[in-house]
Amino acid sequence: MIKNKEQGLLIIVSGPSGCGKSTLNSMLLNKRKNIVMSISDTTRKPRGQEINGIDYNFITTEEFEENIKNDKYLEYAMVYTGTYYGTPSDFVDKKLKEGIDVILEIDIEGARKVNEKRKDAIFIFIMPPSMEILKERLISRKTESKEQIIERFKTAYKEINEVSKYNYVIVNDNLEEALNKMNAIITCEKCRVDRIEEVEIGNQEEIIHEILMDMKSE
Ligand code: 5GP
Repeated sequence: MIKNKEQGLLIIVSGPSGCGKSTLNSMLLNKRKNIVMSISDTTRKPRGQEINGIDYNFITTEEFEENIKNDKYLEYAMVYTGTYYGTPSDFVDKKLKEGIDVILEIDIEGARKVNEKRKDAIFIFIMPPSMEILKERLISRKTESKEQIIERFKTAYKEINEVSKYNYVIVNDNLEEALNKMNAIITCEKCRVDRIEEVEIGNQEEIIHEILMDMKSE
């Protein structure tokens, strides 16, 4: 009766480094069908167990700047000093057209750029329970130097001040609960009336005729 737009949802997830957004996103991928993560290009070096082409496409600054010139990115930003991150448009457009939802795990500047281009995207901000807990998480994962942790922490303050520009905020103090909230948000977004392409309710006269025929003998 209701035909929804075939286009997938574009879901933007931001939050300070160490707030748990990557963990939440990968749990969400296991929970829902027809949803993928966009793989960003970055000029930073792989960290820990990260794999090229899975976690990121690790490329050089020259390659990144060439891609900027060739308009390859839906958005990009220099998130930390000298380090670019960007979302290749091709993959996102292809998946959305196929009706697959796409998650972009990007910073606030990237989110702002997407907001200018894609009014239909949904913006979710993942908040740490407290700055103290964020600090502990950043230190305990032992993947950044002292200077990098300080830069990430400073960026976190800037990012949290932008939360009101997002559509939804989830405080990640319990992974399971945060996951359920994220899942619920996406489910609700799929029920929005502006996702309806067509309402097909049939011809009233024909249905009345059918009722009369069906009830003829009563
Ligand atoms: P990390 O180095 O910890 O993987 O990521 C650092 C930050 O870069 C995170 O806030 C993450 O959301 C952001 N980021 C990752 N990929 C992209 C991207 O393609 N575009 C933008 N603008 N930010 C990104």
